Amino acid sequence: MIPRLKSLQVESVAGGVIIHRRALERTHLADAEGSVAVLLRLLREGTRTEDELVPAMAAEGFQVPRDDIAAALAQFDEWRILERAGDDDTLTPAVRERHQSNLRFYDVSADLTVSSADQHRAVASARVLLLGAGGLGSGILQSFVGLGVGHVTLVDFDTVEIKNLARQFAYGLAAVGRRKVDAAKAWAAAYSGGTVVDAVHRRVEDVVAIQELATGHDVVVCAVDTPGNVQLLVNEACCDLGIPFVAGGLAYSSLVYWSVQPGTSACRQCLELRRAEEPAAEGAGPLFDSQPVNRATGPVVQVLSGLMAMEAMRFVRRTEAPVALACYHVLQLADDMTTSRDPWQRHPDCPWCARR
Ligand SMILES: [Zn+2]
Repeated sequence: MIPRLKSLQVESVAGGVIIHRRALERTHLADAEGSVAVLLRLLREGTRTEDELVPAMAAEGFQVPRDDIAAALAQFDEWRILERAGDDDTLTPAVRERHQSNLRFYDVSADLTVSSADQHRAVASARVLLLGAGGLGSGILQSFVGLGVGHVTLVDFDTVEIKNLARQFAYGLAAVGRRKVDAAKAWAAAYSGGTVVDAVHRRVEDVVAIQELATGHDVVVCAVDTPGNVQLLVNEACCDLGIPFVAGGLAYSSLVYWSVQPGTSACRQCLELRRAEEPAAEGAGPLFDSQPVNRATGPVVQVLSGLMAMEAMRFVRRTEAPVALACYHVLQLADDMTTSRDPWQRHPDCPWCARR
């Protein structure tokens, strides 16, 4: 294995070097003799094994014991500034070309153990159950296809209507009247042969149905809002199967998403039990019936679709932890686009968490 310094900005300053590990994040290393700068330069070339770095450093005038080289590499790897040189070559030229920008995104979380190519392979072999092919679901599907997710089981019961075209960009005029799952499958096939879409035209109304659909999948994404308790149904099915899931939606001007990893995080039922314990206002009830209003524009659902797709892929790539585990991530489109996090804890009486 040949370690290589990632494509980062490194500055030479008096008595040291500054590594720009991320945007606005810099690490200053003291380097009075200049050996660190030389090691970083050799690592950037990415042509030497750990053993070969010892004579290469000596040739530059620095006698550095192998253990010190190893310790430096371990520290650099912990900072995630090293990658395995040439690992892209383990992918076919066609995959490298198509997924070039995906691979470079994975570079950020790659290290000497898990390469960007490894992360792509994990995505390409992933099986995802996507419930819903509407505003959110069709956008999430598009993200998955772009990323090269290997298999998506897409479940929806609707047909494409003219009003959908304002925000569901996997469909065009020619798709109006078609089943959404069939139109989305056709879009995916035309866009990329890298994702197999299994189109399932059915409603999702009970736990057993969701369990049947979810079995054999790595992650579930809930992009439907009916029936009203669908998130609890998905929660029960996924907790029973031990499959992580991501859910989200739009309420007024807030985008919200969250995820659950059975056995690791609190689940959605835990939140339900906690809410039930909150004191209700005396005589509280709706003043009059109100109908749900769909305010989802194209840009709005694209933002939320992207966030949910990224969270789902964190369960697949495993190089960065899911960011919304048992935690409402809220993006408030009004009020200066503020973001907030609202985590919840396990409830001791939760029947689904008690089993794990
Ligand atoms: Zn629970």
